[in-house]
Amino acid sequence: MKIFCVGRNYIEHAKELKNEIPEEPVIFIKPKSALLQSNTPFYYPEFSNELNYEVELVLRISKNGKYIQPHHANKYYNAITAGIDFTARDVQNELKKKGLPWEKAKAWDNSTVIGSWIDLTPELLKKPVQFSLSLNGETVQKGNSKEMIFSFDKIIAHISQYFSLNIGDLVFTGTPAGVGECVVGDVLKGFVEDKEMFEVEVK
Ligand code: ZN
Repeated sequence: MKIFCVGRNYIEHAKELKNEIPEEPVIFIKPKSALLQSNTPFYYPEFSNELNYEVELVLRISKNGKYIQPHHANKYYNAITAGIDFTARDVQNELKKKGLPWEKAKAWDNSTVIGSWIDLTPELLKKPVQFSLSLNGETVQKGNSKEMIFSFDKIIAHISQYFSLNIGDLVFTGTPAGVGECVVGDVLKGFVEDKEMFEVEVK
């Protein structure tokens, strides 16, 4: 199982981190060990002093494929949830400055949260999929799939030009504006439409 992530897929988020608007999807991969298992606590990483949340819509791949055309891409995923691509922002900023890969800032063990799955029906995809994140009860991030620079189908098609997609792979589709810091004791809840998908406490 692979975890694909898209960086800078929302204009306002690219701007808030002073990144350029990308001309093609920015893709990185996390290992399976980055996924926080249910009933496992989420720990503040000991190597960071600036832990950021990034809520994202996450797709689950339902069919193996390579070189997928955008107009066929919707046959390759069948479920959606919200997740957090936790980021050690201080570590990432250091790595970015040096032009180095940023896995240490994003893909450490148990760094990545996903919620429960919703079947992706054609009805659900007819309108933009809404999602949000609350921090200690207050909404801090809000977005919808229509605001993405690269749509679900374009992301899937692009990834598949380089990597084979396999059943069970996950695709994090990027975070909207509003990323911010969290500290030990914070409680984060992710929503798709108005449905709560996950709750995680920073330990
Ligand atoms: Zn992200």
